[in-house]
Amino acid sequence: MAIIFKRTKILATVGPATSSPEMIQQLIDSGVNGLRLNFSHGSNDERTQQIQWIREASKKAGKPVAILQDLQGPKIRLGMLNENIEVQKGDEIILDHAAEHNGMVLPVQYNLSDKVKIGEPVYIFDGKVRTTVIDIPSDTAIKLRVENSGTLMSKKGINLPDTDFGGDILTPKDLEDIEYGLGQDIDYVALSFVQSPDDIHNLRQLLVEGGSEAQIIAKIETKAAIKDDVLEEIVKATDGIMVARGDLAVEAGAEIVPIVQRRLLALCRRHGKLSIVATQMMASMTDAPEPTRAEVSDIANAVIQGVDAVMLSEETAAGSYPLEAVMAMKKVILYTQEHAPVAPINDYNLIKSKKLDAISTTTVKLAEELKASAIIAETKSGATAATIAAHRPNLPIISVTSEDRSAQQLALSYANRSYVRPDSDEAGFELAQELKKDGYFGDGATTVIIVSGNQPGIIGMTDTIKVRVLE
Ligand code: PGA
Ligand code: MN
Repeated sequence: MAIIFKRTKILATVGPATSSPEMIQQLIDSGVNGLRLNFSHGSNDERTQQIQWIREASKKAGKPVAILQDLQGPKIRLGMLNENIEVQKGDEIILDHAAEHNGMVLPVQYNLSDKVKIGEPVYIFDGKVRTTVIDIPSDTAIKLRVENSGTLMSKKGINLPDTDFGGDILTPKDLEDIEYGLGQDIDYVALSFVQSPDDIHNLRQLLVEGGSEAQIIAKIETKAAIKDDVLEEIVKATDGIMVARGDLAVEAGAEIVPIVQRRLLALCRRHGKLSIVATQMMASMTDAPEPTRAEVSDIANAVIQGVDAVMLSEETAAGSYPLEAVMAMKKVILYTQEHAPVAPINDYNLIKSKKLDAISTTTVKLAEELKASAIIAETKSGATAATIAAHRPNLPIISVTSEDRSAQQLALSYANRSYVRPDSDEAGFELAQELKKDGYFGDGATTVIIVSGNQPGIIGMTDTIKVRVLE
């Protein structure tokens, strides 16, 4: 029997429930391909430690794992309240960046006075308390009218669905976190509450100037981002997207989330960009050892839609069953991929280069015609393997690269399994023989398609497709 592995990848969030070398090792051994460090919580000392644990565990497991730095973005929260406050429709409250809690004056972590306009909605506590801006009484405060009764508590999140951040969504905290990340071994930087392609360009500039090799994930969770003329431009500007269904539902309405998900996954495949579906995929498993039917169905649908990776948030960060959640997810992925083909997309006039697109299309065709067991991609930056993955071939894409960073980034890419080997003329073929010997392809003759360049180790030189039969 050949080895079966999951083509849709799993990204799990590290948090109090999993912040130890043992738990991180077990997450990776249970099927996790990437770990998200959520910069909305925790300290940098903890993260430095976690990054080290992840790299050690990944080495032990013999599989590259992606590390994703998730920047908070303009996720604004209330500050500390002296006590919970009950509010009624018609009440007026003030959010003041410079004040302590006093009656109906509430502290807020971010100065909103020069961002919001009178008449704009402000949602507090995941949309549970809806308010409208009625005044901007000082240069640190905004005054709100409460639209429905509810309870306000310390540190609850605030959404500003109609506020335009004017191309300036990076907060002072984000800038500090980016600076911290530049010195760390990080593969992806995710940016929350992206509103326009400029947000991606701004982040890209900071990363490039800082010498970072990290790729960017745009979290799609604002009304501004999902506008018809904006969404595809964001996809083009970024390296990958996350369907951030939690905040997206608060900002734009829960009913639009499935449609946005489908649009985004199709756009990502068309442009050869990484896609992640996030939030509440296994939410009930935060407290229960089994998923609900609806959760199983949600994951299966994301697999059939051809997502690269599905994500776990509080299930692994703070849940009682983090490993069970990963294993349940893996089970759904494996069953679904064997029983339902990934939905075809009509329109993929891919991405970065015409040449790479033509080579990847031919490679996938050849692999299917010849019933190959795997596509082996010699790749430097990862672009060759990622472009092949955009076609969603029904077989493993084994990438061989001399770059740890590329191997780790590809860990989240559809159907990928990455290996790090020195650059050479025969890196792909040698790896194929090694895997054949290890039983990876089962008994009997195996056909593999090897994609490479005539100058190994140089980006953009992919030009050769070889068919090899391994005995
Ligand atoms: P968050 O992003 O968990 O960082 O808020 C995901 C989402 O909003 O769904
Ligand atoms: Mn969010």
